[in-house]
Parts: sequence; structure tokens; C-alpha cells
Amino acid sequence: MNDSQPNPADPVFLLAGLRLHVACGCGRSTKPRIGALAVRHRVPSVTPIRRVIERLRCSRCGDKPAVAEPAH
Ligand SMILES: [Zn+2]
Repeated sequence: MNDSQPNPADPVFLLAGLRLHVACGCGRSTKPRIGALAVRHRVPSVTPIRRVIERLRCSRCGDKPAVAEPAH
């Protein structure tokens, strides 16, 4: 276990400076800043990051991402 790893229950404001590594099964991957992602999806800053991840859809195929995890 590594306590410094971001937790899926962490609110977005805590992770705003990190990027979210998002990869889809179709091969598309992006790394948006979590702060910018929260603004784009208009979620309150206290929203757990997993709630944002649940809303993500691939911009190419519309599928849910195969990988979505905070990254430095
Ligand atoms: Zn895709």
C-alpha cells in the first residue's frame, strides 16, 4: 500500500494540479489536468474524482475509458 497515491474518493480540488491519464480500448489516450476536467464537466470542487471518471467518454468512439487514473 502507498498512502501517497491518489484515492478515488478524493475530491477534485485536492487533485486539481494532477493530470488524469485516460486511455480507451480504441487506442486514444489523453492526459487532461483534473482541475480543467472538473470545470469542463461543471462538477463542484468537493466531488470525488471517481464521479468525474464515471462521466468520461472517449471523444473518438464514445466508450468508457479502459484506464482513468490520476498521474503526476
Ligand atoms: Zn475510444
